[in-house]
Amino acid sequence: LPKDLFPGRKNSAGIDLADPLVREPLLKRLEELRGRQWEASPTFKAEVPGEIAPITAPFDHGMRIGTRRDASAEEVEDAITRAEAIQPGWNALGGEKRALLLEAAADAFEAHTDEILSLCQLEAGKTLVDAVLEIREAVDFLRYYAVEARRLFSEPIQLPGPTGEHNYLKLAGRGVFATISPWNFPLAIFTGPAAAALAAGNTVIAKPAEQTPLIAALAVKLCHEAGIPEEVFQLLPGGGEVGQLITNDPRIAGVSFTGSTATAQAINRGLAAREGPIATLIAETGGQNAMIIDSTALPEQVTRDVVASAFQSAGQRCSAQRVLYIQEDVYDEMLTMIRGAFEALDVGDPTRFSTDVGPVIDHDAQAALERHIARSETIGRTIWRAEDDPSFARGSFVLPTIIEIEGIGHLQRENFGPVLHVARFKGKDLEKVVDDINAVGFGLTCGLHSRVEETRRLVESKIKVGNFYVNRNQIGAVVESQPFGGEGLSGTGPKAGGPHYVARFATERVVTVDT
Ligand code: GLU
Repeated sequence: LPKDLFPGRKNSAGIDLADPLVREPLLKRLEELRGRQWEASPTFKAEVPGEIAPITAPFDHGMRIGTRRDASAEEVEDAITRAEAIQPGWNALGGEKRALLLEAAADAFEAHTDEILSLCQLEAGKTLVDAVLEIREAVDFLRYYAVEARRLFSEPIQLPGPTGEHNYLKLAGRGVFATISPWNFPLAIFTGPAAAALAAGNTVIAKPAEQTPLIAALAVKLCHEAGIPEEVFQLLPGGGEVGQLITNDPRIAGVSFTGSTATAQAINRGLAAREGPIATLIAETGGQNAMIIDSTALPEQVTRDVVASAFQSAGQRCSAQRVLYIQEDVYDEMLTMIRGAFEALDVGDPTRFSTDVGPVIDHDAQAALERHIARSETIGRTIWRAEDDPSFARGSFVLPTIIEIEGIGHLQRENFGPVLHVARFKGKDLEKVVDDINAVGFGLTCGLHSRVEETRRLVESKIKVGNFYVNRNQIGAVVESQPFGGEGLSGTGPKAGGPHYVARFATERVVTVDT
């Protein structure tokens, strides 16, 4: 592929929060939006409604933001029937027209930036910086997959016909796609897979995470206002049971899932046991991501990048740093600096502009992380925790924590939050460290800080991860520049925001015409 595949397309510029003329009116507007109540419900409502649940703010569970009305079994059935009926028409529309609709959706997202930012903060507990990144990524996915729709679905690929036949290959939608998305990127990863499935000519049944349906409902509404027909892109809120009703339906041709490895495996088993055609599964799951720091690394750069990798988004990124390996010779000095930077972090209500680390998503997530921290003496010892504050009791906060361990092999599972594990290694054991990281079986991100070219080459050649970052942080993959996704326990690929993503949502058809 050429370096600049789409010379006309650019990623979103985002919002310059450093400029007070931009920031202050935005903060005021977000304050005004605070009292609004939101609702998420199935796109088409049936007579028999599903459960109704309140949605509260992760930083203050006494604050109600809206309600989620789950899809009933009847609504799941009806949604898939409608999506199946309209899919051939959506597919026949062609790449160019679908691209225009996705681009119109991106414009609609940008026109509603303030509401999206507000929901990212209130429903998902994101800081403003994270919320801005969220909308940027969603818009970038829409525009990138739009150009992919044009590239892949406009003209068939002509193939050789040495015997005089005419051969060509064309891509088409697989049918009805289910997209099951996570709460940690409630807009970007809700929008990305759905946009790719739509670009490829599928109709989409989208089930957002049960914690963050409101922002998904807003996204779907904006897509409809932009011209994407309601039957083509439908929302079905709910928990795991609704997800199962959807994926068990034999009319679902493919599933895109982002979330835990265990759930991806359960979906995979369900699809295998189900009646009907063999469905494709595109899964993006967890990580046990390490960063390796050798004695040539620049301490200030390391400190900056560890703070971002471990604690931005309160560590609730599947790309986030879970284990930091520091070469023994510089261990104490490096750890002192990192700890100093952690102490300066402002933990608290994410709607305050100064907050660096907000809450975790809910009490279940908080309890799982606290259980892990409480058991730290079985794998090492807790060497630092951020200071507590009485206001944290209103929400689901986990104080940023450092646990010292011997090595990555001591961790049983992914700890999805602001908990960093640190380990020391001897320079001569570098290869063993890489082997230990690979042995865990996840393969999402890895970071390396080193000034030695041979070290970079060695780690790069051995490490089995989807995204390897050198001398920078290990989060925040950018659409088109850093296509994102892992291998092994971390997912099936293809990489989101990359040139092979949209094609995986399509089926290939070859036509041979004899003369
Ligand atoms: N794409 C995100 C990043 O690079 C992580 C996605 C996720 O957490 O699921 O940080």
